[in-house]
Amino acid sequence: MPAVADMFSPLTQSQRRFVDAVRALGPEFQQRGFAYDDEGRFPVENYADLKRTKLHAINVPTRYGGLGATYVDYGVFSAELARWCGATALTFNMHAATVMWSSVIVDDFDLPADAKKQHEKRRAAMHDKVVNEGAIFAQPFSEPNSAAAAGKAPFGTAAKRVDGGYLVNGTKHFASLSGYADYYAVVCTEEDKEGLHDVKNTILLAVPAKTNGVKLFGGWDVLGMRATDSRSLDFKDVFVPEDNLLMPPGIYYSAALKWPHMFVSLTPSYLGIAQAAFDFTVAYLRGEAEGAPPAGPARHSAAKQLAVAEMRIKLEQAKALWWRVMHEARLNPTKEERLRCYAAQYTVMEYANDLCQLGIRVCGGRSIFKNFLIERLYRDSRCGSLMLPWTAEICLERLGRESLFEPGEK
Ligand SMILES: Cc1cc2nc3c(=O)[nH]c(=O)nc-3n(C[C@H](O)[C@H](O)[C@H](O)COP(=O)(O)OP(=O)(O)OC[C@H]3O[C@@H](n4cnc5c(N)ncnc54)[C@H](O)[C@@H]3O)c2cc1C
Repeated sequence: MPAVADMFSPLTQSQRRFVDAVRALGPEFQQRGFAYDDEGRFPVENYADLKRTKLHAINVPTRYGGLGATYVDYGVFSAELARWCGATALTFNMHAATVMWSSVIVDDFDLPADAKKQHEKRRAAMHDKVVNEGAIFAQPFSEPNSAAAAGKAPFGTAAKRVDGGYLVNGTKHFASLSGYADYYAVVCTEEDKEGLHDVKNTILLAVPAKTNGVKLFGGWDVLGMRATDSRSLDFKDVFVPEDNLLMPPGIYYSAALKWPHMFVSLTPSYLGIAQAAFDFTVAYLRGEAEGAPPAGPARHSAAKQLAVAEMRIKLEQAKALWWRVMHEARLNPTKEERLRCYAAQYTVMEYANDLCQLGIRVCGGRSIFKNFLIERLYRDSRCGSLMLPWTAEICLERLGRESLFEPGEK
């Protein structure tokens, strides 16, 4: 196998450590990916390796025994992970994002002292489950009515206040890790006294996977990201103790508005795929990819060189924009920073698929066999721009409107 270049540089010491740790696992993850994809099977063995190396607690703060990765550290780690297995990285993001939302994001909001103390107790318990019990969180957010996940309507999944907790009812679809996770971090609406739903009352609840009233349904025989096991979930009168609140009430709604970069954590999964497509194409044309035809005159073809150049340009553009945006992630970014964040999401998701299709085009017909990575990367990459809340169209819509209108203008 050819030497693997860093996706980003310079790396900090901790980023170097995380990248090296992923790289030690990477070749095996990539190899296992063929069977996971073929059988549509969740990457259980990859998760066992992530737990064995403690990487599953990568962004749990060190004071709780985690590895304390910052948001940028996590992004670098996730992109490297995706370079070896996109489905592992994408599913892992649901877990890592849940940890991040309850830790660094909540910390950025001013909370009354008692609420802060209560949250501290709750998240300490949650982090303990991750660090000491290996607990993994899924993040079912999407619902059959996509307006809620797009941020345009309250979530239909309802949490009704009862003694000591909530009764949860509703349906989620596309719940990655659905058969594997220990907890579902369910985004739902706390009903008001009249039973009405208001987006401001969105809460994030950890529903234990093995609880009465939780039912998995549907299949997951799909085009790409076949190993994510993103089936549907039904919740019927599921009792969830109030200590399972992962964010204090009101904070999810505020964070979605004021900490928009919280949603961009999906992008490194696709940036890693873009890098893998580029790496594969170069290796294939050099005759270095396993099973590839030997390097011949193809490499000398101007058409192939131009296509590889186009791939490199798109990859560099996506990485540069993404790198900047990750460093701008914070509470109350400026309007420019927020719009740049949508632009980065759009660019990474669309370019990942562009790079894969260019890779297949330039490598040629012999590269579409299933024993070649590019075939899977191509299918996996198609899913990036479908991810709510920031699909490609929603990013375009916001970028256009908010470039032309200031708040309050008609
Ligand atoms: C591999 C994979 C893994 C996933 N994992 C998860 C997961 O773990 N958790 C989770 O919650 N979800 C997950 N999703 C779901 C994903 O985030 C979307 O919710 C899902 O793809 C939406 O599918 P849909 O058929 O409802 O499409 P729609 O949402 O109906 O989208 C179809 C088109 O309509 C546009 N559109 C939709 N709503 C709006 C709007 N309000 N304004 C403007 N345009 C709009 C979209 O941009 C798109 O072009 C996953 C999806 C995939 C493909």
